[in-house]
Amino acid sequence: MELNKDINQFDIPLAKRTYLNNPNSILIKKLLIFSPFLFFIFSIAALRLIGNMELEPFNPLKFQVERNHDGRILGHLPYNEIPTEKLVLIEPNIEVHIDMRDSLLKMREEAKKDGIYLVFLSGYRSVNLQNDIFYSLKSIRNQEASERARVSAPPGYSEHSTGFAIDIGDATQRETDFETEFENTDAFRWLTKNAAKFHFKLSFNKANKFIDYEPWHWRYEGSIEALKVFESSNRNYKSN
Ligand SMILES: [Zn+2]
Repeated sequence: MELNKDINQFDIPLAKRTYLNNPNSILIKKLLIFSPFLFFIFSIAALRLIGNMELEPFNPLKFQVERNHDGRILGHLPYNEIPTEKLVLIEPNIEVHIDMRDSLLKMREEAKKDGIYLVFLSGYRSVNLQNDIFYSLKSIRNQEASERARVSAPPGYSEHSTGFAIDIGDATQRETDFETEFENTDAFRWLTKNAAKFHFKLSFNKANKFIDYEPWHWRYEGSIEALKVFESSNRNYKSN
């Protein structure tokens, strides 16, 4: 009777009570209840571990993003378009940043004194014009964007849109305009020797891996604004 009373009181069979009181059984039961959760958590942890192993050292996209942190596209840095109030016309079809006008004209005058006749071929170019140059020539020449970018900047990525870039030719050898052969002219030799005095610098030299050598393309770095514009380019000069 004593036994029956206990059973009624707890409403659990004796055998079951023995089973429940066994500490090992309680542990197993808890494990069984939580096993789906544990499996889920371990699965997530394993997947993340595998994912990290693949992503961290070998992900080429991440590597590329780190290398391109300066916003470069096909080797060209992004440049803002100069505000129109800072543009000045120095001769028909040649507009430049007001900061560089005097220095540029002085350089041409000094060259003339040495018997060298510099011709200004192209100064400021709007993003729209650069767009036409990049895409129209690209389609005519049947070139892919990366090939095209070796000789022309994509719109929004040209130094010409800043007003601080100038393409220069030799008045006595116009056939070398925009050609690598310009490097063999007296004008180029004079510029190599003297341009720095007027704060001009060759933008794309032979060491640049992405952009073809442009002996005719010079940029002005003689004002704080110009230095700010080209700071990123100069900082990464060694990685060019
Ligand atoms: Zn140029």
